Order: sequence, then structure tokens, then C-alpha cells
Amino acid sequence: MIKIFDKNLSKALVESKALSQIEIDKHVKSIESTDESLDSYLVRRGILEKQQILSAMEMKFGLKTVDLQRIKIDQAAVNQIPVKFAWYYKFMPIQIKDKILTIAASAPLDIKTQDEIRVNLGYKPNLYLACEMDVLDSLKKYYGLAADMVDQILTKQPSKKLSVRDADRWVEDLEEKSSDASIAKLVNQIILEAYRKRATDIHIEPYRNKVRFRYRIDGELIDANLPTDVKHFILPILSRIKIMANLSIVEKRIPQDGSAVVKTQEQTLDLRVSTIPTPQGESMVIRILPTKVMNFRLGELGLDPKNVKIFRNLIVQPHGVIFVTGPTGSGKTTTLYACLNEVNSIQRKIITIEDPVEYEMENVTQIQVNPKVGLTFAAGLRSVLRHDPDIIMVGEVRDLETAEIAIRTALTGHLVFSTLHTNDAASGITRLIEMNVEPYLVSSSIEAFVAQRLVRVICSKCKAEVSCPEKVKKEIAQDLQISNPEEIKVFQGRGCDRCNNTGFYGRTAIYEILLMNDKIRSAILEEPRADVIKKIAIENGMQVLRQDGWQKVLQGVTTPAEVMNVTSREDSKLDDRSKEANVSVESEKSRNRKYELIAEDAVKEKKDFNARAYPRLDEELRIDYRLFQSESRVLSSVKSESWQSTQTKNIGAGGALLESDVPIPIGSVIEMKLALGETDASAVECLARVSRVEKDAKGTHYNIVIYFLDISSADRARLSNHVKTKTNLSE
Ligand SMILES: [Zn+2]
Repeated sequence: MIKIFDKNLSKALVESKALSQIEIDKHVKSIESTDESLDSYLVRRGILEKQQILSAMEMKFGLKTVDLQRIKIDQAAVNQIPVKFAWYYKFMPIQIKDKILTIAASAPLDIKTQDEIRVNLGYKPNLYLACEMDVLDSLKKYYGLAADMVDQILTKQPSKKLSVRDADRWVEDLEEKSSDASIAKLVNQIILEAYRKRATDIHIEPYRNKVRFRYRIDGELIDANLPTDVKHFILPILSRIKIMANLSIVEKRIPQDGSAVVKTQEQTLDLRVSTIPTPQGESMVIRILPTKVMNFRLGELGLDPKNVKIFRNLIVQPHGVIFVTGPTGSGKTTTLYACLNEVNSIQRKIITIEDPVEYEMENVTQIQVNPKVGLTFAAGLRSVLRHDPDIIMVGEVRDLETAEIAIRTALTGHLVFSTLHTNDAASGITRLIEMNVEPYLVSSSIEAFVAQRLVRVICSKCKAEVSCPEKVKKEIAQDLQISNPEEIKVFQGRGCDRCNNTGFYGRTAIYEILLMNDKIRSAILEEPRADVIKKIAIENGMQVLRQDGWQKVLQGVTTPAEVMNVTSREDSKLDDRSKEANVSVESEKSRNRKYELIAEDAVKEKKDFNARAYPRLDEELRIDYRLFQSESRVLSSVKSESWQSTQTKNIGAGGALLESDVPIPIGSVIEMKLALGETDASAVECLARVSRVEKDAKGTHYNIVIYFLDISSADRARLSNHVKTKTNLSE
């Protein structure tokens, strides 16, 4: 059918001189292996306007044409003409009047079809020509997706109708039934349609007397428009999908998870299927992940030019952690992929640890987390380091262990990208500290926190200026410091076929980028509170989420409602908040930690070495160390890479005092092994930062004060016990 249409259309287009034979041959060749029709291809690629195609058809066949997307379809006509009839002959009923049935088809009707309509339906056909793609779309829209298939299955086996509830006795039949070609076809059709509509998920929910099929598109659920009769074979449909995903079709009482790969003409799709039992039957969600290699670009994320520049500067850092923050579904992974793409080159080895691996990337080693076999983020990260990567992406930091390894990795000269679940950029800092990451680790390793949200983009086809409440205009003007709020223009989509009548097509991200600087680093050490840090960042020029959103409203990209949905008002007015109640919310724990911190940070506070949170002990222990990175001037006497040995003068669980022949620059990070017992295995290994360097009384040696950076809590406890035991013994 389709190919006949293409042949006719090719001739018509050449005859009307819309395209040359050579051009036509080229286009026909490129759709050869797909099931896309020629008209759809030409219009989608912008090669011809639909009107040009219609005129060519009109000339060729001498029949009137109609643009089905623009005319009114009479629902009564649709109700009169059975679905199988319309689908079989591929025509769309438009109107019935005085025994005349007006229809649209993509080719002239042959005598036989005209007779069929007259005899079987009792109407005289009145034909208009229309584009093939429009006829098929209208059939889907008015009869429901795959209505012909549903009808076929129903008529083929009317006695075996299955209802949602009372069909348990059909279980044994299910496997056979769900392998039925027509059910398989129907399932494929549902998945393909979802993919074509850009859906990320398919939701199948059985209720008492119906089944709901919905697609999630641009973050919102919309009805999949399946015929209601589909409820009669929901069981075989679910079973078919479960078989595809390797799930047990007999087991319906417990939730199940699986995955399947399906091929469409355009690309292979990776499906993640999960089921949960409900009293009305199993509810299923299918996540659709495209498996084709994705090429995300920084410039396409929705960053404004200024932010693209900030991002580019950030991701060429040789080491440090960059956190992208936001709730689930805020597009964090896409941003990270775009960053990786930007730095991906032959000179750099990139490894990712993800859960799940959402998109395949070229020249990147991607690891899928699998806690069942002990491959957690933390475990993966540890083994990844042995593969000598330059850049590492950790899907998410959820616990202290992962956070500490990520930070350690950054401190040892790697660039680490990861995500955190927080509302804004500044809360990323407090989130890490709540996880019990030491504030000095946060301040010394992290380069930036980037918060983001997704907003829907207004559909370009039905976009129009709309009025906007004064209050909103005022708020926008205030946040962006615009002097004349009256002049703010706001747009919205009216809703059309292209956007499923939602007024939106696609999504874009809004950003808030908190760059580390000295002021923020000291704030983290002194007063790690999100509001305080946010205020410093804003003074420093950080644009908050809502401000970035308003910019996109002014550009006509999105609507004020979208921005207000995903950002909070407080975002943009922080001035008085620091004085409010949350000052006193500071927990006992963080107060203690602050004390410990100030006491330990000898560089800053110049506190007496003995005034520390942990008890200390004068003890000579062997310590091996090597320099990792020297923040200040390079000192030639200390070579990195090579291990040095020396002795401690004094130790505690927070740090140590060593003796050295050569000075080590203050601020340097060293990798160290402190011999706490006889064997090497019992040594305390961690990174430490040099916080003070002094010549000893004789002037021959240097006293070097270090504090431990990423010491594990177990080692910290061991050290603490060691000091306590020895102190008690000597008393
Ligand atoms: Zn639209």
C-alpha cells in the first residue's frame, strides 16, 4: 500500500516539476529500508511543504485534495464506519450527508473498493486525496492506536475474551496466547508509537473495568489513545512484555524487574520493565532507553552563553569534583554526558560508573552498578582507579563511602563528575557534610556545584503571545532587575497535533552554577550552612535557578508557570533568611565538628597544637609519605612519586606532627602510611594535608603538622584507641 503511494507520488512530483527524477530517486532510496512514507519523509526533512505535495497529487489525478490536519472530522462519520473497514482500505471518513460518505485516501479508489463501500456500507463515496501520513495519523487519532489490530484479535477469537479480573484460569494459555502474532504485533505497535511520540515511559495500569495506557512525554503523562476494547486482552499483553523481559509470567504476587531489547526501524530500544501487583492485576511500567550512541553537546543543554563559558572552564580542570544536583528526572545525567563528550579525546581515558547505564557513549568505558554481586558505586570506583583513568563519572553519590572515595580520587589528580540529590547548588555542600564528609575535604576537593531543573519548551508550531498577570511580571522584573515590567512579553503554546495538544514540545534545562572560591571555601570550614554559602555565591554573581528560568521566559522558550513549578520563590530573595530561625537548627553534631575543625586547621586559626579535639600522644612511629600535589610553589627538594620515610613526634586521631629534613609546603597533600603495628597491613593509610611547617629549636629539622584528610572511620577509631591505651598505660 505504502509503496504504491510512494510510486504515484514520485511520478506526480516529477511531472509537476516539484522535484527532479534524480532527487526523487535519492529520497526514495533513503527510505527504502524504513517504513516511513515518502510524503512524511519529505515534509519532516523540510524538503517540500505539504501543500506542494497536495498540489502535485491534484494535478496528477485530477482530484480535489484536502489537508486532513486542518479540516474538521465529523465524529458521527467515524462512528458509522467500522474500524476494520477504514483500516483495510486505508481511508479516513470525514463526513456523512445525504447518503454520501466523504472520505480522504492517499490514492484514487479502484472500482472494487468503490463497490465495497456502496454495497457493504450503503453510501456513495466522495473522495478527496490526502497525504498518506495524514490518513494514517487520523485513523490512529480517531479510532485509537492499533484499533484495527485490536479489532482483528477480538473478531478472531471472540469466545476467548479475557477480562482483567477473572482470567486466572487462563494462565496456562497465556504463554501460547501471548506469543500469538497479533498480540506481539500489538505490543510492538504500542512501544513503537511511544518511541515515535518521544515518550520515556509507558504506564499500563489495570482498574476494575478498564485498563489505562499512558505515555510519559516531556515529563508529563498523556493518554496513549488505545481502543477501550484492549482491556479484553490485557493479560496476554502483559505476558507478552514479561516474556520479552525474561520475567515469570506465572508469578503475579510479587514485583518483578527485567529488561528487553527491541528493534525498531530507526533504532534499537532498551526497555526496563517493572511490575507491581495490585488487586486489579499487575501494573507495569516500561522505561524506554535509546541504545544508539548519544552525542550530547554542552551548547544544546539550554545553558546561556555565559554559563557555557563557565562550564567549559570548569571541565578542563586537571582535578577536582564537579557535582550536578537536582531531584530525580531533572536531567543531571544528560548534563554529565555532555560534559564528558566535551572532554572526550584520544589523550584522555574516561570511565563511568552508572546505575543504570542510560546511554552508550563512544570511547568511554561504562560500568553498570550491580549491588547483587557487590559492585556498588564505591566498589566500582575503587577498581576503576587501577585502570588509570583521567576522568571519572560516578552516577550518584548516596553515601559517605562513595563520597569519600570520589573526593580522594579528585585529590589524587583526577577530574570527577557526579550527582547529588539536593534542591539547590549550595545545599550540595550541606548534603555532603550531613553524610559526614569532613568539611575540609569538601572545601579542598570540589570545584563546583551545578543545580538544574527541566522546563518544557513551548511548541513552536502553536506558540502565541498571551497575557501575563501583573504580579508575575513584577516578580520577573524584580528578579532580573528590569525597570519596566509592562514591557515583559510572555508566550504559550495553544496546543496542536505536533505537541499532543499540550502546547509543549521537548524540554530544556535551567541552571544555577556555584563556583568555589576562597570565600566559599572558608565559609565551608567556618559555617557550612547552605543559606550563608548561597548568599556569598550570589554576591559573587551566581544566577539562581529561578532567574535563569525567567531569562528563558523572556526569550519565549518556556512559560512562567513552568519556571514556577520547578523553582521556589525563596531562591531569588535570600537577603533576610540568614537571620531567620534556621540559625538555631545547627545540630549538636555539627557544632562539635566545627570545634574540631577550627582546632585542627592550624593554618587558619593558629591555635595551639595541643588544643585539639582528639587526645594526642608523643610517640615515635614510622611514617612513609609522598607528595601528591603541591598547591603553592613547587618545591624541588620534595619529589612527588618517590616515597620518603620519617618519624612522628606526636600523633592523634585527627593528625600528626612529623619531623623532616626538608620542609613541605603548607597546603600540600601527601599520601601517607603510618605504622601502627608490626605489619604493613596494620598501617593507617590516608591522604593528609600539611597545615604548618616550622624549623625546630636546633634549626636542623622541620616540624611538620599534618591533618588526615580521607581517613576511614575505622582507622580513626583505631588511632584514637591506640592513643587512649598508651596514655592509660603510661599513667
Ligand atoms: Zn503545538
